[in-house]
Amino acid sequence: MKLGDHSIKPTKIICLGRNYVEHAKEMKAKIPKEPIFFVKTLNTLVTNGNPIIYPKLLYNTQEYNRVDHEVELAFIVSKTCKNIQSEHAYEYIEGYTIFLDITARKMQISDRNINLPWYRSKNFDTFGPIGPRITPCSEIEDPHNLELQLKINGEVRQHSNTKYLIFKIPETLAFLSKFITLVPGDIIATGTPSGVGPIQPRDLIEASIEQIGKITHKVILEE
Ligand code: MG
Repeated sequence: MKLGDHSIKPTKIICLGRNYVEHAKEMKAKIPKEPIFFVKTLNTLVTNGNPIIYPKLLYNTQEYNRVDHEVELAFIVSKTCKNIQSEHAYEYIEGYTIFLDITARKMQISDRNINLPWYRSKNFDTFGPIGPRITPCSEIEDPHNLELQLKINGEVRQHSNTKYLIFKIPETLAFLSKFITLVPGDIIATGTPSGVGPIQPRDLIEASIEQIGKITHKVILEE
């Protein structure tokens, strides 16, 4: 996959849940004591400018007809990483990008209520827009002080700053590396701030993060 000047071959996408206090509150969820993570599958990935496909399966049922946007700062792993200390985390990061953790919200909540995992609600095709490029670590002085924003049809829906991340990047990477061997190209999304809400077919989504850029995606209904 090409992101700006970089080509990456991710083997997995790992996402943090509830990593901003205000988002945990809006989901009526507890503030986590350690990072909560889940995996997205590679079929979700779609690069800047390509459409997000709203599945008919969701759109046509009252039970599942809500799909939400979540804008997130993501980082890309640069070398094999297992059991690392947080002091060394930045040695394993290639750079930063924008990731949208698109979520079938009603499905997620109904699955959660019967103790099923988030897996299917997170992994429809195109539910992981990414890009527009990877900004190398050397170009970002402080990844914990970046404005992030998401607009739908020109209207701001999410606006926050990565300084509000509960678990910072070094701690997150050290934590994940206790469980999973991360390899070059793997994508780690750090969680979304508050303001998540529904998207609809024909919406235009623009997501931006300071010092990285902007991605633009049209939502279309699956044919
Ligand atoms: Mg998320």
